[in-house]
Amino acid sequence: MTEIRICASIPPMRDRASFDVLVIGSGAAGLAAAVSAERAGASVALATKTTLQACNSAKAQGGIQAAFGDDDSPEIHAEDVMRSSHETANPRLVEVLTSEAPSAIHWLEELGVEFTRQGSAGANGQAHSRAGGYRVARCGGATRHRLLQVGDRTGHAITKALRERYEGGHGVELPHHALRVLAPSDGGWVASFDTKDGSADVEAGAVVLAAGGRCFAEAGERGELSTNHPNATGEVTRIAMAAGAETRDLDALQYHPNGGAWPSTMQGYSIPETTRAYGAVLRNAAGEEFTDSLGPRDAVSAAIVAEVEKGKGVETPDRRPAVWLDTTRISPEDAEISLPYMLRRYRGAGIDPLAEPIYTYPVLHYQNGGLVIDEHAETTLEGVFACGEIAGGTHGRNRMMGNSLLECTVFGRRAGKAAAERGRS
Ligand SMILES: Cc1cc2nc3c(=O)[nH]c(=O)nc-3n(C[C@H](O)[C@H](O)[C@H](O)COP(=O)(O)OP(=O)(O)OC[C@H]3O[C@@H](n4cnc5c(N)ncnc54)[C@H](O)[C@@H]3O)c2cc1C
Repeated sequence: MTEIRICASIPPMRDRASFDVLVIGSGAAGLAAAVSAERAGASVALATKTTLQACNSAKAQGGIQAAFGDDDSPEIHAEDVMRSSHETANPRLVEVLTSEAPSAIHWLEELGVEFTRQGSAGANGQAHSRAGGYRVARCGGATRHRLLQVGDRTGHAITKALRERYEGGHGVELPHHALRVLAPSDGGWVASFDTKDGSADVEAGAVVLAAGGRCFAEAGERGELSTNHPNATGEVTRIAMAAGAETRDLDALQYHPNGGAWPSTMQGYSIPETTRAYGAVLRNAAGEEFTDSLGPRDAVSAAIVAEVEKGKGVETPDRRPAVWLDTTRISPEDAEISLPYMLRRYRGAGIDPLAEPIYTYPVLHYQNGGLVIDEHAETTLEGVFACGEIAGGTHGRNRMMGNSLLECTVFGRRAGKAAAERGRS
């Protein structure tokens, strides 16, 4: 028995289940696409490798970018993206990303996400109050305060709201369906899955690939730590390539500048970039600040590695390379509002980041490149769409923090709508 739950209104075609739209992956991008496709009137199936909850998106902490400040605009947001990408991002995709950011935030709110509001400004005055009432921080590479947060569990809040909306609709859920092959068919595409009980084929007029990146598998091969969920293994990119899809920048992997380096239970944990947004700075063994702590991610990671190579870093008790992240500069008010989960994790491990600096070192985090898409999120294969980390171009070769959850929402919505139109035609 497979776990396919087919709505009475959706007849099986030959011996296969058939839908207008098949979405692969249940992170923020896949969930946004599935909700959007259903809203557009399509019959939808959402297939995912293990459970619907298992994904990187739910682990995202820091926040999501959108230009709400009086001193900000989608154009300035786009300039920051292009500069951080070293002008390698696709300007048209960036324009879509930043111009639709405010409406994407309102869409998430309509689905039940409650972004932290600017009740009390932190002692550092880091948050701006004139940004639509939201508490916003300035993240690495940004020239304005535009990072909205839900405490430091933003990804959890977004995926929960999207998942509950999808589960409340008529869409079909296919957990424990790992995509193995994608092939063209008369009606669109046929997807073959490995399931708990064997295998299953599903046919769809259009397919949305939202299976995330490959940094968990890549870190395993390199013998390194990763922030990623174990399902981030990248085989769906390879499956799409085998079907003929074009890719870009696949070699450009991103290190998160602030992986937890000690205690051992925090190794591979991504210390939220909002620690630096709220005042934390990087210091070497001599206590000197050696880089702009709010520079673009690749620059900050490279500066940490270079400082260690110069012999100016520190060593963790288990002899790993590291530098200090001086979190003692964060005000308790900012920490309580925007970093409660991080504080709980470290304090639970016996370290109080507000009383002592913490060890940090870059850790493998994000796949910048991926499948080539157009502004409707369609890949170079007709009827196959891609959104989220599996897609390339929006961030070029270096993503800014807070733009991935945004990409999942903006291009997930677009992919779902366009796939519904295609799948129903
Ligand atoms: C610890 C951490 C913190 C982060 N913090 C932030 C942040 O603050 N702000 C921000 O913008 N970004 C952040 N990111 C990045 C961002 O969360 C991810 O890049 C983004 O959420 C990816 O979403 P996605 O939907 O594309 O993929 P994922 O969320 O990774 O979902 C992929 C889905 O595809 C499924 N899947 C994989 N292979 C298959 C297969 N063969 N068949 C079927 N299903 C498959 C997986 O099980 C999963 O459900 C963070 C990432 C991590 C890991």
